[in-house]
Amino acid sequence: MKKLALHWKIIIGMVLGIIWALLSSSMGWSKFTIDWIDPFGTIFINLLKLIAVPLVLFSIIGGVANIGDPKSLGRMGGKTLGIYLITTILAISLGLVLVNLVKPGELINEDSRIDNRISYEIWANSEGHEIKDGINYLEDPAFFNRAQEITELTKKELQNASVKEKVDAVKNKKEVSPLKPLVDIIPSNFFDALTDNGSMLKIIFFAVFFGVCLLFIPAEKSMPVLKLVDGINEVFLKMVDIVMQAAPFFVFALLAGVVSKMAGNDIGKVVEIFKGLSWYSLTVLVGLITMIVAVYPAVLKLFVKKIPYKGFFKGMGPAQTLAFSTSSSAATLPVTMECVEQNLGVNKKVSSFVLPIGATVNMDGTSMYQAIAVVFLAQMHMIDLTIGQQVTVVLTATLASIGSAAVPSAGLVMLIIVLSSVGLNPAWIAIIFPVDRILDMFRTVVNVTGDATVCSIIADGENMLDYVEHDNPSETFDLDS
Ligand code: ASP
Repeated sequence: MKKLALHWKIIIGMVLGIIWALLSSSMGWSKFTIDWIDPFGTIFINLLKLIAVPLVLFSIIGGVANIGDPKSLGRMGGKTLGIYLITTILAISLGLVLVNLVKPGELINEDSRIDNRISYEIWANSEGHEIKDGINYLEDPAFFNRAQEITELTKKELQNASVKEKVDAVKNKKEVSPLKPLVDIIPSNFFDALTDNGSMLKIIFFAVFFGVCLLFIPAEKSMPVLKLVDGINEVFLKMVDIVMQAAPFFVFALLAGVVSKMAGNDIGKVVEIFKGLSWYSLTVLVGLITMIVAVYPAVLKLFVKKIPYKGFFKGMGPAQTLAFSTSSSAATLPVTMECVEQNLGVNKKVSSFVLPIGATVNMDGTSMYQAIAVVFLAQMHMIDLTIGQQVTVVLTATLASIGSAAVPSAGLVMLIIVLSSVGLNPAWIAIIFPVDRILDMFRTVVNVTGDATVCSIIADGENMLDYVEHDNPSETFDLDS
């Protein structure tokens, strides 16, 4: 009998997880699900992350050193960063076009928008921000009473501890030298960097530096090191194979946990959460889905003729479904690498260099969502962002997505920077927080698909792409392969 492809098994696991969560919340078993099933989801993410950090280290060292000469390395490095930047800007621009067309923030009822506007003015005054569009409800006698009530409410809102902590943490970061992000990439202690999952950029820096130095020492010295690095890489990839055998079960636990935490013992809550933010969520989803079904296929068709649209998605299925269920491109990285190498035929020399960097710096889905979120939040507070401000959004969303760690909800925290850059209240992340975890699943799929697309373009350009059509590509995860 033909074996069911892994991504189908994962999808079945996901669906069963959601069904279980809905059933358990209607039967009042949510606590059981959170106590006894959800931890397996955490175990799964931990296992994948455990593999991801050393895999990034060794695959970049191997990738850089195997390229062979510093000139090709420089060319490939430049191309990689350049194309990653172009796809990110493309995603943000598409997001901005969509949110300006749909105007989800204006579909909220007029009274609450006026209330929102008043609280924005209170906040802007307290922070000493200049209000650019000249409207001033606070000083309008018609709104005097409402303004007073809202002043009280706003004070309470600003005290919302969890949001405040996040905002303060990012603010503290911002108040240091503008070159701080650069300084942060250089680790002062390599072992410290290794122990922190958030310091992927430090590990990448070290790995590139180490790999480049390997290129410059005599072959009889570098060969044994390179062989060791390649061997270690193989061990980690085998670990991925083993963990992936249990992925459908783990994904069931993961989804059951996420949905149970949202719903508690009341399924209606999930629907309620989405109702208020439905237009916003829909705009984000339309943008993300357009990237997957139109933009990437078009880019592939233009630049990588060898890989047919269908073959690309069939090959990337396991990585995409895993990205959806884990909401983490870092946790998905080991599987992304296997899919790209074994199913799309990208040479390891390219994938081991391009993909780990992509998982960290290239987040098309995250940057698009940040752009949509900022404009949506402005619209619902009756603030018109000028073209200049929207250009600022393009710049800061690009930087914020580069700075976002490849873990769940990182994009939401970095949204604080984008909001602040155009003079909006960073505490507004609380407004979209309720739907963020679900949207995170979709944007992570886009992040991973974007990395794989760029990787195929680079591989094709370097003549290192050897695509062969597979009947059932995800069977590459067989233990005995
Ligand atoms: N979860 C995303 C990722 O890992 C980042 C984010 O947008 O929060 O790719």
